[in-house]
Amino acid sequence: MATPDESVVHGSKASPKDLPALDKLLRECAPLVAEHGHTLVAREARALLDGVRARAVAGELPRAELALLPQSLATRVSQRMQPNMRAVLNLTGTVIHTNLGRALLADAALAQVLALTGAPNNLEFDLDSGGRGDRDDLIESLLCELTGAEAATVVNNNAAAVLLGIAALARGKEAIVSRGELVEIGGAFRMPDVMAAAGATLVEVGTTNRTHPRDYEGAISPRTGLIVKVHTSNYAVQGFTAAVDEATLAPIARAGGVPLMTDLGSGALVDLAKWGLPAEPLPQAMLAAGCDVVTFSGDKLLGGPQAGLIVGSKAAIGRIRKFPMKRALRLSKLPFAALEATLRLYQRPERLVQDLPTLRLLTRPQSQIATLAQQLLPEVAAAVAPRFSVEVVALQSQIGSGSLPVERLPSAGLALTPADGRGRSLDALATTLRELPRPVIGRIHEGRLLLDLRCLEEPALLTSQLTTLKEALA
Ligand SMILES: *Cc1c(COP(=O)(O)O)cnc(C)c1O
Repeated sequence: MATPDESVVHGSKASPKDLPALDKLLRECAPLVAEHGHTLVAREARALLDGVRARAVAGELPRAELALLPQSLATRVSQRMQPNMRAVLNLTGTVIHTNLGRALLADAALAQVLALTGAPNNLEFDLDSGGRGDRDDLIESLLCELTGAEAATVVNNNAAAVLLGIAALARGKEAIVSRGELVEIGGAFRMPDVMAAAGATLVEVGTTNRTHPRDYEGAISPRTGLIVKVHTSNYAVQGFTAAVDEATLAPIARAGGVPLMTDLGSGALVDLAKWGLPAEPLPQAMLAAGCDVVTFSGDKLLGGPQAGLIVGSKAAIGRIRKFPMKRALRLSKLPFAALEATLRLYQRPERLVQDLPTLRLLTRPQSQIATLAQQLLPEVAAAVAPRFSVEVVALQSQIGSGSLPVERLPSAGLALTPADGRGRSLDALATTLRELPRPVIGRIHEGRLLLDLRCLEEPALLTSQLTTLKEALA
């Protein structure tokens, strides 16, 4: 540690007594204080002065920096006001990326969020009677029309829908699940734990790879409250397998006098095969097959906000809506507004590919993505040269979010290869890309950094940052 005496030796260095007092610095920055108020600016000024004082004491503060203090303070304050949650460019190739916020909202949904959340609204107010309303009533008939259900309700996410469904229908009773469907969906959401949290006793039937109708039949008893099917959305069991589908299970459940619930996870509301995408089970088909309750996510293939949708019979949905936990898991007004607007788009199936960003991105033809890659190649190559070479490559996008795990979508993008062949350079490049004003998220694969352009609908969001990227790499 340098002492103040030593620091005097360095003529170009500032000593602690050269630092302005807090009040003086604040007076110099009056416009900043006027804009942001005293509290924030003074706190940052104090922190700034503490930092430079320590460097002055150590004899390490260049005198020239003193003149820059107002500028440094303004930068600190503006950084403080920057939200940590930011828009990024998803060039990972995974369209519904859970870590990157899943589905992008449609314009109609965005407009509804804007229009309804800054104004009072009729979330729980009946405009006909002038009395208290129920938010579910705003959305139930639409959901029933789209799925063929008798009744419907919505909660915070699909995990909540599953938890609530099991709790409302099987608390204090047994819930039967196939061993092949005791899935972990991510984090702490594992079927056996959810059962326990819901207060139901898990009864496992069958084996990991094969479960038969007689397994369910043999497990039903007076203690049974529910049979649960879980769509194995984030993995595939292949080979010598057997599962009992909902159509086969429904009569067994009915004969046993217990409701049948199925968790679909991703929740496509239209047949994706129409657009050449892999088929996913539809809630409407599950209800037609005889399920009493079907749950699915709002922000996976549905293309809406985070939400859990629950559709089914009047009796089962009635029990779910009345269950006290429903109040704690209910959908808040922001996603509610977005969900209703998203569902309304499904009334115009011919327009869905244009209207729903998720579907638009999933159906984007490889040729179009490859053309974009060719267009961007020279600019990107110039920005990262000479340290990286760039080429257009064919890629395989994923749908993501546990939907359709084995399917791949032919895509295209740019592959950046380090001239020095070093993996460390690739990691550094990935970091630099993440540090751009609009962070660019790609993926490193086999010695290259890949930028899958399927989800880049506005190329300017990338090209406008290339100068910054070039400077950062220089
Ligand atoms: C994704 C998923 C869930 C959880 O849905 P969230 O909306 O993320 O809460 C539950 N079950 C299955 C089968 C899933 O795929």
